[in-house]
Formats: sequence, structure tokens, C-alpha cells
Amino acid sequence: MTGRVGAAPPTLTLVPAPRRGKPPRHLADLAPEARAEAVVAAGEPAYRARQLGTHYFGHLTADPAEMTDLPLRLRDSLAAALLPPLLTPVRTVTADAGTTVKTLWALHDGVRIESVLMRYPDRATLCVSSQAGCGMACPFCATGQLGLTRNLSAAEIVDQVRVAARALRDGEVAGGPGRLSNVVFMGMGEPLANYRAVLDAVRRLVAPVPDGFGMSARGVTVSTVGLVPAIDRLAAEGLPVTLALSLHAPDDELRRELVPITTRWSVDEALDAAHRYAATTGRRVSIEYALIRDVNDHAWRARLLAEKLAERGRGWVHVNPIPLNPTPGSRWTASDPAVAARFVAELRGAGIPTTVRDTRGSDIDGACGQLAAEER
Ligand code: SF4
Repeated sequence: MTGRVGAAPPTLTLVPAPRRGKPPRHLADLAPEARAEAVVAAGEPAYRARQLGTHYFGHLTADPAEMTDLPLRLRDSLAAALLPPLLTPVRTVTADAGTTVKTLWALHDGVRIESVLMRYPDRATLCVSSQAGCGMACPFCATGQLGLTRNLSAAEIVDQVRVAARALRDGEVAGGPGRLSNVVFMGMGEPLANYRAVLDAVRRLVAPVPDGFGMSARGVTVSTVGLVPAIDRLAAEGLPVTLALSLHAPDDELRRELVPITTRWSVDEALDAAHRYAATTGRRVSIEYALIRDVNDHAWRARLLAEKLAERGRGWVHVNPIPLNPTPGSRWTASDPAVAARFVAELRGAGIPTTVRDTRGSDIDGACGQLAAEER
């Protein structure tokens, strides 16, 4: 990571007592028609749904006191019906001179998730969680060690975005007021294992106000370990989001160890699905490759990866190697920089566009799931 600074002391917040059951219904769970129906069912005219949507998605507020165009008698009742609080901050830690902000959230049932806001000179990216924990059990990943607690609702995903966009707009993140430009589904969880909620969340991100935040689909990235049927399903949705395939190994033997769930689909099957995605959507696919010392960082593996990508064509793919953010106590650690450089050089030498991703926040328990694991 470049430009590291020491992590700021964590902030602590009182978290309400957990409640059991499903997450409360929220405006951001509902498609526009269902929102209007919910408002009518509450005895109000349908246009109130648009007003609420404008406040939530346009003004980025869920606070009835700020909804001054709604009659006073309605503010609290409508907000209680459609804008229940979903996220309570538990800890916030910052790095990179305040431009990286990692937040541990408590959900209504006390379950913990994380999101990370990363600000760059030309963009601001939020990494969101789509599940609490993860069932994919990748051995190098802190979240994978937690196991899956539950899927998030669409609104629990969307609200991570609203809060970050608001903090940026209001100048609460180092660098002055700004705009959230990118959302990546690379936090806790396997997004395509929570397909319906993730898709609903993506629709809320890209729909124009008052139905969504009006973000560009090109600024949204959905990652997957390679759930082949779900990749094909996503390709058919007509949403040109970027697909990121977390490959981590070009050979089945090692990939079965690093991404155990993928014993169901070979490397070739996952790459074929990624290639179909690029062909259908016209969006270049990202291949994510965590560089793990002496495990998957060999030059021959870079050459094998380049070969497999090139044989499916040119221009459809981009590789993002990322030095592993190690989890304390884990035997998995980041590649030696010289070895990582050789890996990248092999890919580039074979004509594969390759960009090393930075490891923002690695000094603030940056590996996904680490804060939640510590809490446990
Ligand atoms: S790396 Fe991703 S898919 Fe694998 S266990 Fe961690 S969160 Fe789940």
C-alpha cells in the first residue's frame, strides 16, 4: 500500500439490543411499484413514495426531521413504515491520511458486517458486504473462517452505499466534499450466492432518483468466486456492471484448495462463463488474483493464466493481481515484491492487460472480515 499512515484510534458506538427475525422491510428493498403500494396501504397517496425516494436516494437521508416537504404528522409514521434504521456503526477506523475509512456495522439482529470507503484523487470507491460472513470457506480469507451467518437484504446493502455517499457529500472524509463514483461487491460474502438481494441492490444503485442513486452501471463491480450458472444469469439481466472473477489459481488442483467451493466448476468452466459475460454485456471482465507467497505466485502459473485467457480471445479481460492482505496468525501471506513483479511481467509480456491493485487499509485490519472476526 502506498502513503500509509498509522490507523486512527477506533471510534466506538453504543449498539441497540439485537432483535431476532428477518431484517425489517425498507424502501430500498422494494421496486418502485411496490413502494407506491406500501404507501397506499399505509393510507397515503402514491406520490408520497416518490417523495420518500427523493429523500432517501436523492438527499441521502433517512431522518424524518429532514423531510420538511412531508406533513409533520406523516414524517415519523412513514419513516417508521418504510425507513427503519438498518445499520448501527460499531467501530470506524481510518488510514491513508483519512482517505480510507473502514466501518464495522451492527445489523438489526446484532450481526456484524463491514464496508470500506477508499478515496482516490479521481474517484471514490465503496466496498460493500453482501452477506454476513461467507460460506465459500477460502482458507486465506478472514471472512471465510467465520462461516456464513446470513444473507443481507437488498436494503442492508443499499444503506451501506447511502451512508458512504452522504459522508462524502458532506465533507466527512478527508479531501473535502466529494461524490461516490464506484461500488464494488468485494466485502464480506459471495455476492452471487445472495443473487436476488444483490441484483435488487444493483438496480437501486443505478436507477435514477427517486428510484435509486442514479450511479453509472459502469461504476459497479460484482465479484464472484465463479458460480457459473449465476454468472450466466447476471449476463442476461441487461445491466452492464463489471464482473470480477476471483480466480486465484489457473490450475484446478490449486484452485480447489484456495477456493474450495469451486470443485463444482473447473477453471476452464469459470473462464468460459466469464468470457460469455464479456461477450454478452460488452464489459471487460476483471480477473482477481490474490498473490500468496509460495502458493500461487509462480512464473509458470502466470504463463498458464495468460495462455488460458489468450486462447479465449483478446480485449475481453483484465487481470488484477493483489498482494494478499494477510490475516494475523494465518500461514498465508503476501508474495515477495520481486516475485509479484515477475508474475505481472509474465502476464504483460504475454499481452494480457494487468494492473496491480493496491492494498488500501492493510494497516487497519484491511483484510475483509477481520474487524468482524475480532469482534467475535
Ligand atoms: S475470499 Fe470472498 S468468497 Fe472466499 S471466503 Fe472470503 S469473502 Fe468468501
